[in-house]
Amino acid sequence: MIARRGVCLVLAAPSGAGKSSLSRAMLEAEPGLALSVSATTRPPRPGEQEGVHYFFKSPEEFAAMEAAGGFLETAEYLGRRYGTPRAPVEAALAAGRDVLFDIDCQGHALLRAALPGDVVGVFLLPPSMAELERRLRARGQDSESEIARRLAVGRAEIARAGEFDHVVVNAVFEETVATLRAILAAARTATARLTGLPAALAALG
Ligand code: 5GP
Repeated sequence: MIARRGVCLVLAAPSGAGKSSLSRAMLEAEPGLALSVSATTRPPRPGEQEGVHYFFKSPEEFAAMEAAGGFLETAEYLGRRYGTPRAPVEAALAAGRDVLFDIDCQGHALLRAALPGDVVGVFLLPPSMAELERRLRARGQDSESEIARRLAVGRAEIARAGEFDHVVVNAVFEETVATLRAILAAARTATARLTGLPAALAALG
């Protein structure tokens, strides 16, 4: 094993493109990968747990954490604040552990700027906008107006797909997981991340 810096694997997608299921599958398949749990001021959806899906904060708590420099990046989405806590990410990367991010396009751009060289960005596309709408309805969590707003935001996100290192159409779930695992495997061996390369070469003799 060559000592290395961790990978920041960012998955971005319009809401409903299958990002949460793909994130779960990646975390199950890849023991060296941990989710960056964001903070948000939006209320929990049914089944969401504190510290697992999000750290749920009041607007005041969120602002205090932001003022203390506690976020790598923050965003606003449909009137709610979201942010990536800084300390766990920096510790993981330095220790060679990989971190998965389920954030939006703006977050991806800000994270790239905050952690130059650490980010591998993947944009997930739905097979079609009709399929995206069908998936949003099928999860049955959001009202009609919420679905309409998520579709509008989704279109704006799709327009930014070109900012990412990789674009993957999520048509067949298992194939998408395999592709994401291949992207991670390649990123783990990138020379720029191999902080232990000189030592490893020296040890080879
Ligand atoms: P949701 O409310 O559906 O969980 O998330 C709404 C949007 O906010 C999604 O696109 C999600 O990826 C994004 N998001 C969640 N956490 C963060 C974060 O920490 N930073 C940024 N920039 N976006 C986030």
